[in-house]
Amino acid sequence: MAILLDGKAVSSAVREEVAKETAVLTESFRQPCLAVILVGDDPASQVYVRNKHKACEACGIRSLQYHLPKETTQKELLALVQTLNGDPTVDGILCQLPLPEGLDEKEVILSIDPGKDVDSFHPVNTGRILSGDYGFLPCTPAGIMELLHRYEIPVRGKHCVVIGRSNIVGKPMAMLLLNESGTVTICHSKTKDLSSFTRSADILVAAVGKPDFVTADMVKDGATVIDVGINRMADGKLKGDVDFETVEKKAAFLTPVPGGVGPMTIAMLLKNTITAAKRHREADQ
Ligand code: NAD
Repeated sequence: MAILLDGKAVSSAVREEVAKETAVLTESFRQPCLAVILVGDDPASQVYVRNKHKACEACGIRSLQYHLPKETTQKELLALVQTLNGDPTVDGILCQLPLPEGLDEKEVILSIDPGKDVDSFHPVNTGRILSGDYGFLPCTPAGIMELLHRYEIPVRGKHCVVIGRSNIVGKPMAMLLLNESGTVTICHSKTKDLSSFTRSADILVAAVGKPDFVTADMVKDGATVIDVGINRMADGKLKGDVDFETVEKKAAFLTPVPGGVGPMTIAMLLKNTITAAKRHREADQ
C-alpha cells in the first residue's frame, strides 16, 4: 500500500513557517500584503479567493480583496493593477483566473509587476524558471516539489513523467524536475502510446483534468504518483486524475485528492508573498 503524501500536514508546517516570518517582517518592516482581484461571479473562483483570504489572515498576512463586477472593462482592470503595482504597501498581486469572456488574460498577466507576481505567471518569472534562476515559482509545481522534498523522495536521475503541458502546471513542473536532475518526459493529449512512458516513470505527475485517468496498469511498481487533478463529480465530491483505489496498491507514494497537492498550492502562494515582502524590505534599506 502506498504511503500517502499528506498535503494538509505539510501545508500546515509551511504555513507555520510563513506565520513566523510574517511576524518578523511585521515587526522589522511592515505587515506583508497580498492583493487579490476577482472579476465576476464564477462560484469556484469565489471559493478559491475566499480560501486565499482566510489563509492570509490565519498567518498574519494583510489581505486586500477587490471583487469587480463581470461588466468590468479591460481598461478598468488594468488601471486597478497599475494602482496596486504602484502601492508600496502591496507585496503580491493576484488576478484570479479565468476572467469573464471579453477580458484579455494575457494582457492582465503582463501588466502585473513581475516583482509582485506571486502566481508566477508573468513571462519574466516563467523565463527565470528555464534558467534555473528562480524568482517566484508557480504555486502548484512548487508545492509538489515541497512535498517531494519533505518526504525525502529523490528526483536526481529518476525518470519523471509529467502528463499535461499547461503553462501553470505541466510545463513549469517539468522544468522544476529537470532542474533537480530528473530525466523528464512530458506527455500530452497528442502523445502516442501514453502507457509506454508512464509505466517507466519513477515519479509520475498527472495534470490532465480527467477523473481516474491514470489506472494501475499505467503505473510502475513502487512509483511516486502525484495527482494534480481536481475534478468535481456529479455528486459534488472531488476526484483526482488518478484511480486512487487501484493505484494505491501499486505505488510507493501517492497524493490523495482532496488533501494532497491542493493544500500545497495555497501554502506556496503565502510563501511567495513573504518572498516578495522580503525583497521589498531589502529594496527599502
Ligand atoms: P489544462 O486543461 O490546461 O491541461 C490539461 C493537459 O492535459 C493538457 O496539456 C493536455 O494536453 C493534457 N491531456 C488532455 N487529455 C490527455 C490525454 N488523453 N492524454 C494525455 N494528456 C492529455 O489543465 P491544467 O490547468 O494543467 O490543470 C490540470 C488539472 O489540475 C485540472 O484538473 C485542474 O483542476 C487541476 N489543478 C489543480 C491545482 C491544485 O492546486 N491541485 C492547480 C491547478 C490545476
